[in-house]
Amino acid sequence: VPPYLTFDQCLRHWAQHRPHVTALTDEGREYDYAMLDDLTARVASLLLNLGLRKGDRIAWLGKNADLYVILLFGAARLGVVMTPVGWRLSAEEWSYIVNDAQARILFVGAGFEDRVAAIASTPKGLDHIVSAVEAWTRIEATSPGAFEPADADDAALQLYTSGTTGRPKGAVLSNRNLFGLQIPRVDPDAPWMHWDTGEGMLCSMPCAHIGGSGLYVRTLAAGATIHNLAEFNSDEVLDRVEKGGVTRFFLVPAALQLLLENPRCTATDFSCIKYILYGAAPIPLELLRRCISVFQAQFIQAYGMTETTGGIVMLPPKDHDPEGNPRMRSAGLAVKGVELRIVGPDGNELATGEVGEISVRSTNNMLGYWNLPEATARTMTDDGWIHTGDAGYLDEDGYLYIHDRMKDMIISGGENVYPAEVESAIYGHPAVQEVAVIGIPDPKWGETVKAVVVPKPGMTVEAEDIIAWARERIAAFKAPRSVDVIEALPRNASGKILRKDLRAPYWEGYERMVN
Ligand code: ATP
Ligand code: MG
Repeated sequence: VPPYLTFDQCLRHWAQHRPHVTALTDEGREYDYAMLDDLTARVASLLLNLGLRKGDRIAWLGKNADLYVILLFGAARLGVVMTPVGWRLSAEEWSYIVNDAQARILFVGAGFEDRVAAIASTPKGLDHIVSAVEAWTRIEATSPGAFEPADADDAALQLYTSGTTGRPKGAVLSNRNLFGLQIPRVDPDAPWMHWDTGEGMLCSMPCAHIGGSGLYVRTLAAGATIHNLAEFNSDEVLDRVEKGGVTRFFLVPAALQLLLENPRCTATDFSCIKYILYGAAPIPLELLRRCISVFQAQFIQAYGMTETTGGIVMLPPKDHDPEGNPRMRSAGLAVKGVELRIVGPDGNELATGEVGEISVRSTNNMLGYWNLPEATARTMTDDGWIHTGDAGYLDEDGYLYIHDRMKDMIISGGENVYPAEVESAIYGHPAVQEVAVIGIPDPKWGETVKAVVVPKPGMTVEAEDIIAWARERIAAFKAPRSVDVIEALPRNASGKILRKDLRAPYWEGYERMVN
């Protein structure tokens, strides 16, 4: 039995065993585990004094910050649920989330005060808006008192899905969801679950997503050091790597590409980095190969979603062999404690090698969507399986191959085409910076494949050339019939390409068949 399954137990555990180990750094500031225990206990008391109780919500609008981490951990000790909202969202979008969550306090990160002041109507139900300066003053003025800590199945974090395919929904995650699979354990097949003393995780992905907040929890669970960055910036990542202390980081593929493009990259010594985690979106094979050769670290892919509290499938370092290992195309194996199955259209389990919807069951499955019982019932079955909405298959050794989101699948002349595969083929073209593939309506084929390409700076791309390049690498029916050239792809804050935005102009007046 692991020694801790809640924020409260975890913080007490490390405050007792590693009081003087650094728990959190942000810019010049450092907090050891004894300080983190004290500060988060003060936050719990402060929230109690303000009248909040277990099950109430608070929200954060701001970049990644030490204050956010302390508020999240402190609130969670008490069972008050933190809802971080993406700072890149429009006022209409983040107000929607603050309203939907029925947050009682909105904490505003440094630099965002004006944005909050500018909104016409304060989200209803909000008792207080507290700036970062005021929050620090109040935390320091509160002495830690007694409180009844949250239980393992109490909610701790409410994250809104990226909204890649529709309106964001609040996925409610419990203490158990966040800690259940994260307890460091001795597992020869998963050596990365073991952390040496003094290890540190560079956290630069946005806290409003599971790849941001989940990473804070994972690092806390290991009793290691969180090195916080307000936001991803390739220069700052390189600075922090050079400074020492960082032994792991997690980046989405779009961020890895920006890091590779930084000219300082090849001159930076990455020997202190043990593990580079990546995931959250499909990675083009060519990009992964380049990363392996430049960074010389051990790579781990993670596949998961907000609803599964992040990574539940991992591709171990040993399968990252750039010399043509077919496993490089896989997202990996289910993490210990996670069940996977591939389901057909009638809900039947499919055989090895057959493509269907990826379904997952584990202690990491969310409690449900906030106030959306119907959406919850559509996504989660009574016996605990989550329908991911992603298509894929399992091989005979249990490796998962993800094809794409079911909603993005293109059906052209009765053949299924998965955009990610076509994108990966085109990505290797020397003049292509970025590419997204979509289906557009076609009277004969139902849909045809279109590639939307961003050329590398100073280069031009010809449609004929892209089509020919693709035809040499993938089946003709998967190759694009047409190519658009644009300056930049629309992406959301977590770096995901918004294919629905690219599709929209072509589908006006048509009904798109989606599974
Ligand atoms: P919404 O559900 O609101 O449309 P979203 O699905 O983009 O938003 P997230 O929960 O952040 O929100 O993303 C989970 C999705 O990201 C997965 O369902 C999958 O499509 C994709 N994904 C995650 N990891 C990987 C990976 N390693 N490879 C390919 N795709 C991945
Ligand atoms: Mg989703």
